Order: sequence, then C-alpha cells, then structure tokens
Amino acid sequence: MKKTRVDRADGRYLYYYAFDAPSPAVLDAGDMARGDEHVELRWNALLGEYVIVSTGRQGRTFLPPDAYCPLCPTASPEAFATEIPSKDYEIVVFENRFPSFRPDAPEVYDGGLLEQRARAEGVCEVIVYSSQHDGSLASGGVSPIRRLIDVWADRYAELGRRSEVSYVFIFENRGREIGVTLTHPHGQAYAMPFVPPRVETEHAAAAVHHAQTGHCLVCDVVASERRRGERIVGEAAGFVAYVPFAARVPYEVHVAATEHRPSLLDLPDAERDGLARVLHDLQRAYDAMWGFAMPYTMSMHQQATDGIDRASEHLHIEFLPPYRTRDKLKYLAGVETGAGTYINDTAPEATARDLRDAWPPA
Ligand SMILES: [Zn+2]
Ligand SMILES: [Zn+2]
Ligand SMILES: [Zn+2]
Repeated sequence: MKKTRVDRADGRYLYYYAFDAPSPAVLDAGDMARGDEHVELRWNALLGEYVIVSTGRQGRTFLPPDAYCPLCPTASPEAFATEIPSKDYEIVVFENRFPSFRPDAPEVYDGGLLEQRARAEGVCEVIVYSSQHDGSLASGGVSPIRRLIDVWADRYAELGRRSEVSYVFIFENRGREIGVTLTHPHGQAYAMPFVPPRVETEHAAAAVHHAQTGHCLVCDVVASERRRGERIVGEAAGFVAYVPFAARVPYEVHVAATEHRPSLLDLPDAERDGLARVLHDLQRAYDAMWGFAMPYTMSMHQQATDGIDRASEHLHIEFLPPYRTRDKLKYLAGVETGAGTYINDTAPEATARDLRDAWPPA
C-alpha cells in the first residue's frame, strides 16, 4: 500500500492510497473553499451527552448531477473544482469540507452548569471507496473491500494517535432514504474528542458482564450465536454476521470478530481477508433480498483511543437498514425517539433466515 499526501490550498489534506496502480498524478484542479462554519459542542444537561452544533452544514453539496460529482476523478480541471484532483485513483481520504469536528475548532465560552460548551476539536474525513461513480462497497468484489480495510486501519491508527481524539468512529450512510447527499460510494471517519454515548452504553454493559463472568461480552455473544446458529447469516475466517437476539430494527446485522480483537489493528491478514469476505457477502445478500440496493447505516465499534484500559472492547460493525418490508420504511417515531425504546415488527430469527437465503454461495 502506497500513501501519498497532498495539501490543498484551503488548508485541508488529502491522501491517495494506491495498491496496484501507481500513485496518481495530482492536477491543478482549482481550489475548493474550506467551509468556515462555526462548530461547537453543547452539553445536553437532561441527557448527559453532547450535541454537535455545526452551523455551516446547511450549505453543503446536496445530490449534485452526476456530471458534477465532487468525488469523481477530475476529467478537466477547468470544468469545475472537485475534491479529488486526479484523473484516476483507487481509494482517497480527505478532510470533509463541511466538518462537525475540526482541528482548528474555535475556543468556546463555557456558560456554566446549564450552558456548558466544549471545543468541537477533532477531524472529519471522507473515505472514497473507488473512482467508479455507480459502484458500491461490494460492486468490485472482495479485493477492493480488503484494501478498504487496510485504509480503515490506517485512518484508525493515525487519527487515534492525535492527543485530542478519544474515539475514531468509522461509518457509512448508504442510500437517499438515510439522507445521503452524494451518491458516489464513500464512507466517513469522525475523530471525536469524546467517546460517543452509544459506545459508552456498550462499555457500561460490557463492564457489568465482565464483573459477573470475567469474560468479554461480545466474545460471549458471538460464541453463543455460533452455538445456537438460528440467527447466523454468514461466516468467513475470523468473522461472523448475525442478527442480534434483541435487534432494534428489522434486518439489523452485526459483523463481529470471532476471537477477541479490540480494534482493526489487532487483526492478522487472514482475519482482514475474512472481514472483507463477510462485508462483501452481507451487502450482496442485502441487495439480492428485495432486488434493490439496500440503504443502511454501517457503524464500526472498536477500541477507544483515549488510553483508558477497558477489559472488553471488541471490534464489531453494526448495520441498520431503514426498511421493514420491501416497500415499507421503518420510521423512528415517538416510542423510539421520545421513550428511547425500539419496537421491532419482525422476529430476529425470521429476518436472519431471509438474509441467509439471500447469502451468496461460497
Ligand atoms: Zn462520482
Ligand atoms: Zn471479546
Ligand atoms: Zn456496538
């Protein structure tokens, strides 16, 4: 893997990752203007968690015509400025022009107990999977995903080394139903100055389980799912995909390491291969099931980078699609958003069977 850094005129960096191809030549593709929005963290005192206030994001690029896609390779630098000034590339990472966290986040005035603020210091990166505009995570087969895993590991390592970064959150929003503003296949990494609340909740549950049993919670869940089998949807070396016992939404799937692996950096090559295979097969199964590209959010949970020693952080990736049937969206409504309790209209054992039936043959 070759990695080439380019510093843009607006102060943002960009990395070209090259595997088979030579590193691409950088064209002078005009300047993008870095957004100058104000970002800050406000403490929601009732919930005990931060809200990111980022006032420039309203102006971000929204579903541009394909000919003006800012993630496609630059065909002619004169035509329009793009994020990626090269004629071709394999995988590209760059700082988001409309970030929720930024390295130069302004100092904020802390208004005391009820109006606590904090700096939104961190980094938001866009990870472009391929130069192909109409692709997806799985459209190029297993090997592009395998390369993406190496890039994810590199971003996790580099961003996690920053002193202000407590958590590197890698994720993908797929599909307009999820609110995706650019259709070109890409994911993101948020290097955050705090451990996000969903992860903190998992840490607390894992700590209780560890105190009771001496075991890692996800290790025990994975072993139990594999023993029972009824919610397993697929497996490959070192990784298993299953519908969780208490799935929150229909067709929720978790992909977890079968051995205790805190982060991507703990995966030997054979397990990175296995993860690529499972992610590929899962997206194929999602797309085959109803004959359209299944939207989802993909969230990677792994070890926090705040230096705190926790016994049971265990790499897993959570997929939450918004559909409950082929033509019905599952809306998060009052009980979910107001009471915080999910109602799942499907049996996890049945959705696991549907996905197993759609799983590509080995
Ligand atoms: Zn594109
Ligand atoms: Zn574990
Ligand atoms: Zn999780």
